[in-house]
Amino acid sequence: MPSTSTQRAVLTKLAALYPDARPELRFTNPYETLVAVMLSAQSTDVQVNKVTPALFLAYPTVEAMAAARVEDVFPMVRSCGFKSKASHIVEACRLILIRHGGKVPGTMEALTALPGVGRKTANVVLANAFGVPTIAVDTHVFRVSNRLGLANAKTVEETERQLMDVIPRRDWIAAHHWLIFHGRRQCHARKPACETCGIALECACFNRPIPSVSAVQDDNSLSEKAAAGSGHGRAKAGALRAADEPNGAGAPDSAAKKENARKVRGTG
Ligand code: SF4
Repeated sequence: MPSTSTQRAVLTKLAALYPDARPELRFTNPYETLVAVMLSAQSTDVQVNKVTPALFLAYPTVEAMAAARVEDVFPMVRSCGFKSKASHIVEACRLILIRHGGKVPGTMEALTALPGVGRKTANVVLANAFGVPTIAVDTHVFRVSNRLGLANAKTVEETERQLMDVIPRRDWIAAHHWLIFHGRRQCHARKPACETCGIALECACFNRPIPSVSAVQDDNSLSEKAAAGSGHGRAKAGALRAADEPNGAGAPDSAAKKENARKVRGTG
């Protein structure tokens, strides 16, 4: 892991790069927050923002959604995923009505007791609807924080714990948005734009030593042996190549690294 001062520098740069980072989903109250976040799982904020205006017009409250028929809700949210999302939303609202008098609960325990609400969804709702300091780890937060060296973890839960240790509590909510913004705009999963990244100098992944020729040869020979074997072997070879990158998303390529280093040194 990078030093504490490097991690602080990363956070300072993220804050400076994204001073206006905020949720890109649109909602105006805890009910809308919950529904929008539930819809966003394995969909995009852009797509969710397309369907929620009509959905919230038709079902403006927990009570209205609790009384809805899944068959009526599903066509309105079909573009965001499976029918199970519509049934989870309707069922969650019914339970909120029964258990919480129609008010979306503001605790992790009560939220994750609702169908279709996992820890990540609950964290986003807690942060954005209730201002509770949390760090929701989605795919962007996981990838970017592990690349930057704010975390060094294999799982979402571990990443969340490490980020909570590294980031001051007052910045938890903002840091979630900084990392998402950086993941969407710069540190893409497959082709991170390292050559124009404002945090490359501090980035653990970018500054990871390029493997020596012999190490690459060793890795290739291991990969070839595995690839020549069973399907399981091929999968293992792929895993080996991806092992140094969270989510197997692919490290920034060395050409981009060299080009950025050249620019940073002012030799280009
Ligand atoms: S230097 Fe590359 S890998 Fe590191 S944060 Fe920037 S875009 Fe991501």
